[in-house]
Amino acid sequence: MSIFTKIISREIPSEIVYEQDNLIVIKDIKPIAKTHLLIIPKKEISTINDLQENDRELMSDMIFVAKKIAKDLKIENAYELHFNVWDLQEVKHIHMHLLSNI
Ligand code: 5GP
Repeated sequence: MSIFTKIISREIPSEIVYEQDNLIVIKDIKPIAKTHLLIIPKKEISTINDLQENDRELMSDMIFVAKKIAKDLKIENAYELHFNVWDLQEVKHIHMHLLSNI
């Protein structure tokens, strides 16, 4: 079970910014920007390389949630979305970083 699955089940505390049926958004514990959020699917997929055809809607939801949160936080004019993959990935449970220094 990944650390993010434990966060999703509230086994481990975190600062939750947003939640919907298939994903959660939390503040990164070691932020590297003024805003540093993690958009995490509740489905435990290890990496981008493990995505299946039926994950398309979920991945699309991650982007649309990022867009909504960026607007809500008024950072929509300057933010970055990124995925680390495998060797560059500390937590092997897919997540998208949302970063902004506005
Ligand atoms: P990765 O390198 O896997 O893309 O990034 C994992 C991110 O998760 C890192 O930025 C790290 O700070 C964050 N992180 C790791 N463990 C925890 C945790 O227990 N809680 C929170 N909120 N963030 C975490």
